[in-house]
Amino acid sequence: MAKILRCIDEHNSMRFFFAFTDDIVKDFEKLQKSSVSANIEMGKILTMNALLYSDLKNDTDSIDLKLKTNGDCGLIISKLYNNSFITGYLENKNLSKYDKIYEKGKISKDFIGDNGILVLIKDLGLKSPYIGQTSIISSNISENFTNYFSASNQTVTSVNLEVKKVLDDYISFGFMMELLPNYTEKDLSQFTIYSDMFKTELENYINSKSDDMSFYDYICSILKIFNIRIIEEKIIHYKCNCSDEKIDNMLLSLGKKELNDIVKEGKEIEIACNFCDKKYKKSVEDIKDLLNEL
Ligand SMILES: [Zn+2]
Repeated sequence: MAKILRCIDEHNSMRFFFAFTDDIVKDFEKLQKSSVSANIEMGKILTMNALLYSDLKNDTDSIDLKLKTNGDCGLIISKLYNNSFITGYLENKNLSKYDKIYEKGKISKDFIGDNGILVLIKDLGLKSPYIGQTSIISSNISENFTNYFSASNQTVTSVNLEVKKVLDDYISFGFMMELLPNYTEKDLSQFTIYSDMFKTELENYINSKSDDMSFYDYICSILKIFNIRIIEEKIIHYKCNCSDEKIDNMLLSLGKKELNDIVKEGKEIEIACNFCDKKYKKSVEDIKDLLNEL
């Protein structure tokens, strides 16, 4: 379970989103049996996607984030659904040769790469989904999303995504801040102060970690001091949204020829979901039924 907060400052000049996603990273690791480096970088993308949760309104709304880079990790995808489910896929999830670097709290340029495209697909049930795209400019995930949202929101935006391995545990946290229209110079300088402060608070928390207070409680206490109001709090879970129906639709999209070939083979087929590894079996009869729909 992860918590997401939407907040606003006392002058209504900037808004903040916070995501506390430790459990999501742990669930990803449990399911994918992935390396530390993979959990950390995937965790950042999942956290970014979680920060966008308040954009979803209807039950069927969804947001996909895709990063296609020149790094060793290959394709990265995160899917967020308005039924509070989030899931992720990393093409190469067992790159343990990078783990030592990541365990020290550093990142490797070769893991993520520094070239490629970042795509955001927002499906809000309209005629066609909204698709936004930018080039990848850095091997730092936060910088890529700051760049994306500064351009698409056309306002000053700051994104920071941090996932740290602490002993056998993960601490995963992200925030996004936006200045609202008609901001003043004073608001802009306060924005920078807040942004730097939330970046360093995670370090402070890790260095002084005691079991008395969660990072969520720690951040909430800071928000109170600065009169930053929480206006919405939501919860999401790491869970796949796959179903028999979605697998059928995928098979239908293959077309008549491919499906006829499967029937000719005369054998049951098994399809594994890329996100959760759930196995779906389809008999020759199932495929024939699908062919009748085409
Ligand atoms: Zn699945």
